[in-house]
Amino acid sequence: MRGLMQTLPLNIAWILRRAERLQAKKTVATRTHEGTAVATYGQVCERTRKLVTALREIGVRPGDRVATFSWNHQQHLECYLGVPCMGAVLHTLNIRLFEKDLVFIVEHAEDKVVVVDKSLWPVWEKVAARVRCVQATIVVPDAPGPAPPGTLDYEELIAARSPVRELPEVDENEAAALCYTSGTTGNPKGVLYSHRSNYLHSLALTMADAIGISESDRVLPIVPLFHANAWGLPYACLLTGAELVFPGRHMSPQSLLECLRERRPSLAAGVPSVWTSLLEPLKQEKERGPLSLRAILCGGSAVPPALQKAYESEVGVPIVQAWGMTETSPLASLCCPLAAHRERGPEALDALRTSQGRVVPGVEIRLVGDDGKEAAWDGRSQGEIQVRGPWIASSYYKEDAREKFQDGWLRTGDVASIDGDGYMRIADRTKDLVKSGGEWISSVALEGLIMSHPSVAEAAVIGVPHPKWDERPLACVVPRPDARGRLTREEILDFLRPKVAKWWLPDDVVFLDEVPKTSVGKFDKKVLRERFKNHALPEK
Ligand code: ADP
Repeated sequence: MRGLMQTLPLNIAWILRRAERLQAKKTVATRTHEGTAVATYGQVCERTRKLVTALREIGVRPGDRVATFSWNHQQHLECYLGVPCMGAVLHTLNIRLFEKDLVFIVEHAEDKVVVVDKSLWPVWEKVAARVRCVQATIVVPDAPGPAPPGTLDYEELIAARSPVRELPEVDENEAAALCYTSGTTGNPKGVLYSHRSNYLHSLALTMADAIGISESDRVLPIVPLFHANAWGLPYACLLTGAELVFPGRHMSPQSLLECLRERRPSLAAGVPSVWTSLLEPLKQEKERGPLSLRAILCGGSAVPPALQKAYESEVGVPIVQAWGMTETSPLASLCCPLAAHRERGPEALDALRTSQGRVVPGVEIRLVGDDGKEAAWDGRSQGEIQVRGPWIASSYYKEDAREKFQDGWLRTGDVASIDGDGYMRIADRTKDLVKSGGEWISSVALEGLIMSHPSVAEAAVIGVPHPKWDERPLACVVPRPDARGRLTREEILDFLRPKVAKWWLPDDVVFLDEVPKTSVGKFDKKVLRERFKNHALPEK
């Protein structure tokens, strides 16, 4: 027997309508070259409706791809709303990718219109010269000077249009947005989100045992709007009435600090490297008085336990670790303690620092061992994490990737264990595990330990070829400024010796000024592996 409830589509228009009727007075603030620009959600929604009129006049039709090549700002938020609401597909381009990848992605997606920031024009211009599909370019004036010839000015375009009143009732399973993975192996792959998946994913962010975004929050997404939907934060804020603070192109630690001071957000989100670079400035800031942040949402790569500890004790703000992928919208799991952990005391809470948490309601998880069978949730057995749920990708856009999607489950390529309470601990990405003599060494665990050394700022561990063991771990360490030239290889190894099995001990330690980062700020181990592929490990 079928239920008798209404089946209105869960689409982005719900979010728009709710924002304009119920959250109209709430604000989005953007740092610009002329100071902070503040607009209400009411104004944003009105401008979004004008954007829809403008895009229709340009020739955008349902299903067309409209790309953004932009920093985090109000106009980007308007595209987040307007493009899907008119039935088109928002394609958020990663502004930090190599030109060749951008050319591939734009052509693969067949982007018809591109919204690009004036400050990024010198980068975009080179891509534009090599692609054929783009028919119109709209420039957001985030830097002084006129719009480049042959382009449309975003603000002029909006000012001259009337707002569209009727929006189509887009089917919930239609595509709303497209985002490409960074393509660490092979070409980037397109993840095509639906209205329904984005809507449901936004709700997950509002759950109290997740990050609980609510009307009383003010959220600073440092994570770019092009990195996996900015982790769903824009839609969750518009839905709940939480306010937004965008840093625009002003991403230096100093600018972010000013953003925090001026707008006093209650929540901020970014990858671990952002929080590493903000640790010292925030410690000093805390001396001036408590910060406005109630929590920091952090994920994208493992959060070093020492970093979490430092934020808790020295900055006074807890870091909430989340795990996910572009393919999972991205929020899949999040680390919040259970009531039982609190009862078990400080040690149980401490142990959570190495955990990526439990899957949020709406996501199912299984652990699959090397033998293809499900592994036990005993905190020790390791396997590949596989997930499924209404906001998990079922395939890639125009790409046959059957090996990644098996009987309705997404194979994440992350190796982990899960404990009896359902808390998972990622040991590594399959490709980053150090394979030594047929056994695995977790680079994530070694990095976490090395980064708890008081003189270490950052550490990445990679496998380097070894004639006998296949691979052995090499620690690439960035000392803190006051320890540069002073910190020694032996000091690192002595520090690790009592903490790890003998065969886990890195064979060598090299010191770097900086760990190379990917386009979204993660440690770029591909670059490190290439750099150190011929590194001569000392005889043991
Ligand atoms: P990219 O492939 O460009 O890094 P994603 O952001 O989709 O793109 O990366 C997803 C991957 O990032 C996951 O499969 C996992 O390996 C890693 N990851 C994300 N969050 C965490 C976390 N909290 N701890 C450890 N690894 C994480």
